Amino acid sequence: MGFASIRGHQTVRRLLQRAVAHDRLPPCLLFTGPDGVGKRLTAVALAARINCESRPDPDEESADACGTCGACGRIARDMHPDVILIAPEESGAIKVDTIRGAVAQAAYRPFEGRRRVVIIDEADRMVGEAQNALLKTLEEPPPGSVFLLVTARPHQLLVTVRSRCPALRFGGVSAEDTAELLVTEHGLAREAARAAAVASDGSVGAALEAESDAYVEARDSAATALQALARARNPKQRLETAKTLVSARRGKKSSPAADRETLGRRLRAMAALLRDLQLVATGGATSGLAHADLESDLQALSRGFDAPRARQGFATVDRALHALSRNASPKVVVDWLALRL
Ligand SMILES: [Zn+2]
Repeated sequence: MGFASIRGHQTVRRLLQRAVAHDRLPPCLLFTGPDGVGKRLTAVALAARINCESRPDPDEESADACGTCGACGRIARDMHPDVILIAPEESGAIKVDTIRGAVAQAAYRPFEGRRRVVIIDEADRMVGEAQNALLKTLEEPPPGSVFLLVTARPHQLLVTVRSRCPALRFGGVSAEDTAELLVTEHGLAREAARAAAVASDGSVGAALEAESDAYVEARDSAATALQALARARNPKQRLETAKTLVSARRGKKSSPAADRETLGRRLRAMAALLRDLQLVATGGATSGLAHADLESDLQALSRGFDAPRARQGFATVDRALHALSRNASPKVVVDWLALRL
């Protein structure tokens, strides 16, 4: 759970370790970068490094949390009184009361640790009022506290909040590092780990998701939609296909947040399929395929999507995902997409 357990992100890690060693950690930091690359893990590792009881050479730049003391254990179990982890509620939002509670606690000295750490995961989900409540604290930060805002969508934060927090940008994790992590920490077989890692674009979270039912559903839905679009004769048929992409998952409750997430997953699966189609269409090595198990489906699809169409399609899906991440309406996004693929 210390910095040692994090893959990649050497520069960010070194920066944080140095800042703690020299007691120069700012009162607020913004961790940005793609979903699932380890931003929150790094925030927790930082909280442990700050509050670990064993303090091996506290001023040593490479010092890390021990992972075994009482404080490290409580942080790992989310039971440490000075490490507050906030995440969206089931509704998908972080409410103003939650932030007010954390802000009130942050005003006091830490109970047992050296510094109170407030981690706000998916900070972009804070409602406007919550962001304003936080802003007041960031304007006059309490000396014993540090706020870590974790988000893949920093542009959805108020400019006033963003401008108070220096940003640390997390890049993706290499496919080799992701595969290695899936094998050693999550017990996947090497073949499956490699396929999931290639499909995940440097996101360990996405790679784990690649193993789940939700991902299989998304992939089937994306493949079916691509087949329908390859056959579509007119705009009406294309818009019919668009509807299938925004439908709720079977047996799952529909809500704006859940539907948006489902669509995002389907579009990411579609992008991965289109990338595979380029390989198939150009006769490339199938060992690089993310969906090696779907090779026959891909062969069928490749009749509708030759290399240029697959390449262009990949770019189009990428634009759709970008629009979705900027809060565009799912229906507008899929209609736009279906008319262009
Ligand atoms: Zn420790």
